[in-house]
Amino acid sequence: MHIDGKTQMVGIVGHGIAYTLSPAIHNAAFSDLEMNWIYVPLRVVPGALEPALLGLRVLGFRGCNVTIPHKLEAARCVDELRGAAGILKSVNTVVHDEGRLVGCNTDVEGFRAFLAEAGVRAAGSTTLLIGAGGAARAVALALAEEGAARIFVMNRSRERAAELEVLLKRVIPATEISLRTYDLEGSRVLGECDMVVNCTPLASRAGSELPLDYEGFTMDKWAIDLKYASRATAFMEEASARGAKTADGEGMLLHQAAASFRLWTGQSAPLRVMREAYRRALTAGNG
Ligand code: NDP
Repeated sequence: MHIDGKTQMVGIVGHGIAYTLSPAIHNAAFSDLEMNWIYVPLRVVPGALEPALLGLRVLGFRGCNVTIPHKLEAARCVDELRGAAGILKSVNTVVHDEGRLVGCNTDVEGFRAFLAEAGVRAAGSTTLLIGAGGAARAVALALAEEGAARIFVMNRSRERAAELEVLLKRVIPATEISLRTYDLEGSRVLGECDMVVNCTPLASRAGSELPLDYEGFTMDKWAIDLKYASRATAFMEEASARGAKTADGEGMLLHQAAASFRLWTGQSAPLRVMREAYRRALTAGNG
């Protein structure tokens, strides 16, 4: 890697990002395209996002990704919200455009691109969405934009699920949205669903804590876990044991990264190279 006075800078702003795979993914892309760019981790404690973004502006960063716990605050700190970021009030990518900070959300595009790549048909589908945080909102919007017929939402906190319901009903009323209780009974709509998307950090280990009636999984269903890990999560294993098709969060992560890359550089991203770098970093125990 060559760094000089013309090197363009981007990075990831977050708290607890010691194991982020994004620097490996983006730096591999810059290197492959022989671009004089660098992507660095930027550790920012909660409450310090605003001065951090001001600093990036002053230092001439081209932009940054934003991750836990700053996505919602970022939406309040930028000069302009664009596309899905304006709908969700959640920013995962900031683009610095001649002094102005533009907030974007590439998680929605990332999930839609994953669906297409994996061959998951969302149009007319019914989904059980577990979770109602930032990732769940992006997934719900992506499914609705793809023409999903119905989304059931179950979330530990009913309030957050209700916020997601209001948001989606306002933006895409054609998709029916129904809240379910966060328990086994709530999960018993599985029989009516084409896919279940786990948007919580649970169920990554054996002894799944998700209140899911796994008996409802059959061969025609998808079990999608947004978590990315070097092996299948307990949620995926349980679903797979009953014949369901499974996928983890790799596709969404790579496609949101590719979309951020395009926003900063104006060039299309070398997805194959980014995927290889991601898998190498995972195997090396970096994620
Ligand atoms: P948020 O903090 O915004 O939301 C977390 C969600 O998980 C909420 O619905 C929360 O419920 C629920 N939750 C957390 N802990 C528990 C618990 N102990 N019991 C029950 N529910 C719980 O996080 P994100 O939405 O940003 O991230 C969620 C997951 O998605 C993470 O695993 C993250 O790594 C992954 N992700 C993957 C991406 C990808 O590209 N593959 C992109 C973004 C996220 P409540 O509302 O009740 O607190």
